[in-house]
Amino acid sequence: TYRALRVVQDDQGPRAEFQTLPTAALPGGDLLIEVSHSSLNYKDGLAVLGRPGVLRAYPMTPGIDLAGTVLQDRSGRWAPGSGVVVTGWGIGERQDGGYAELARVQPEWAVALPPGTDAHWAMSVGTAGFTAMLAVLALEDHGLTPGDGEVLVTGAAGGVGSLAVALLAAAGQTVTASTGRMEETAYLQGLGAARVIHRDELPALTRPLEKERWAGVVDTVGGATLAGALASTRTHGSVAVCGLAGGSELRATVFPLILRGVNLLGVDSVTCPVPRREAAWARLARDLPAARLAGVTQTRALSEVPALAPEILAGRVRGRTVVDVRG
Ligand code: NAP
Repeated sequence: TYRALRVVQDDQGPRAEFQTLPTAALPGGDLLIEVSHSSLNYKDGLAVLGRPGVLRAYPMTPGIDLAGTVLQDRSGRWAPGSGVVVTGWGIGERQDGGYAELARVQPEWAVALPPGTDAHWAMSVGTAGFTAMLAVLALEDHGLTPGDGEVLVTGAAGGVGSLAVALLAAAGQTVTASTGRMEETAYLQGLGAARVIHRDELPALTRPLEKERWAGVVDTVGGATLAGALASTRTHGSVAVCGLAGGSELRATVFPLILRGVNLLGVDSVTCPVPRREAAWARLARDLPAARLAGVTQTRALSEVPALAPEILAGRVRGRTVVDVRG
């Protein structure tokens, strides 16, 4: 048997509860993993509280990230005892995810823990850090190089935002961190932000084209924030769109794209192809070693996740939360 945090649905709607389940209750898949750590992402907060749009069926084990040790792989791809990380692919959404002591997934979904790292490190990165890495790679693929000028990160004190600040700083970029929590200024500077601005200081979108300012943008907020960032991105700069913490709508014009050649780049961590995943995790291991992540990360027991879910949705969780599944 194994212990899991399950979201079940009854007459009163969805709710989370702890259950002990037989191993046979795991979904299909050739790779059986003993999960030691998961993490808490915005999406997990939505899932645990039964908010619409994340879980595709009930009952379901949330947790879009997991890391642990291979127990068995019927495909032969992974040796027992291998350390692996799995993010996305629909775990914690369409099939049972990381908030359980055991997980069964497709062998090709797993990535080997980079040398010198462990499951706790991988989960302090998690989907948030992996997404931040994909966003930075997207900006670099479209020409962003150090010395180009200011790179904006929105929602900077959140999980994706914090790690985007750290990754851009590690890459030698000049980072401007935008946050609604100015009390996190020292934290963001510690991550490498050259400037910290209040989100109200962002250029308001009053015209289709605002004064050119950003060489690149990592946006986790969406809505008017993204529209404003797009309108104030410099000629041939790029905007990597990661999230919707402030809204999913995008009211914009084509002018930044057709008059400044600005690149609007989508980031989807869930379906990211395997070679890109491996490259991203290798770079994360190089640029965000555990010591750099220590100040970004809090570690909490699985039993605390139901209480933490409303906190992350309210924007009150700083940086990353590792979930110790054994606790
Ligand atoms: P998080 O830790 O909760 O961070 C979100 C941050 O956004 C908050 O800390 C806050 O930053 C800011 N924010 C929240 N509400 C806001 C509002 N109303 N207006 C402006 N800013 C607001 O969540 P996360 O895990 O980093 O995820 C961030 C976003 O990225 C979410 O929308 C998530 O769904 C998305 N995401 C997408 C992918 C992908 O594959 N594309 C992967 C992971 C996450 P400040 O306190 O600094 O203002």
